[in-house]
Amino acid sequence: MSGGRSVNTSPRAIHHLNCGTMCPRGARMLAGEGGLLAPTRLVCHCLLIEGAEGLVLIDTGFGLDDVGRPRQLGRLFTTICRPRLDAGETAISQIRGLGFDPADVRHVITTHLDLDHAGGLPDFPDAEVHLLGLELEAALHPRWHERLRYVAAHWAHGPRWVEHETGGEQWFGFDSVRPLPDSDEEILLIPLPGHTVGHTGVAIRRGEGWLLHCGDSYFHHGEVQTPPHCPPGLRAFAAFDEVDAKARRSNVERLRELALRHGEEVELVCSHSAPTLARYV
Ligand SMILES: [Zn+2]
Repeated sequence: MSGGRSVNTSPRAIHHLNCGTMCPRGARMLAGEGGLLAPTRLVCHCLLIEGAEGLVLIDTGFGLDDVGRPRQLGRLFTTICRPRLDAGETAISQIRGLGFDPADVRHVITTHLDLDHAGGLPDFPDAEVHLLGLELEAALHPRWHERLRYVAAHWAHGPRWVEHETGGEQWFGFDSVRPLPDSDEEILLIPLPGHTVGHTGVAIRRGEGWLLHCGDSYFHHGEVQTPPHCPPGLRAFAAFDEVDAKARRSNVERLRELALRHGEEVELVCSHSAPTLARYV
């Protein structure tokens, strides 16, 4: 049982956490300003929801094992993305810092299992880990071009996977799946494939509106603005890192339309935009 701060259920609180900072070089191409070789700052935007039955964590960023053993992330990734790997930024440290017991994280929902999203899974070994079945299949049996993005050490502890399938009720014209059907929480998985085969957004009811965590569906906040814009280096990186270009581009376009038509009701965030995270912290 928890020895930490009691969970606030009314109104539900959503904490926006940066669970990993990356400082790749190339600020002008990646962020649209700064020196050609200057480092820029990317974050790992995660959400901690105080739910009626405990805490729900959306994505985990990097974990304590990554901080202790950065080599498990692979040399290519650490060389290009230059993660800071600070124990104080891990979800488990920040959850303790908020006064909660990490054991109260009953559910982790992952947008996908890329190494910069799943690194914290070993820090919550008793939580149920919700994701689309397609993503679990891809991560456990990666094809040759997927081998560098998934790190098997992140699930060597045997997570309590809960796989969900695409389909279900419609949400603003998107398919949706309810990962916690018996819960009072209104949380939906919104499948957004393309970056990975089983990539999903996560929509959270917040009063009259919704917060949609879009994961890595897009990297730059300007991609879902009208007219859209994205620094060329980030556009190239997104193309390099996608498994299905057509699906990814189509989903970015659908998200831009969603923001244009329903921006009053639905707020969009993505994983790696520091300016977007700065709106909340
Ligand atoms: Zn990512």
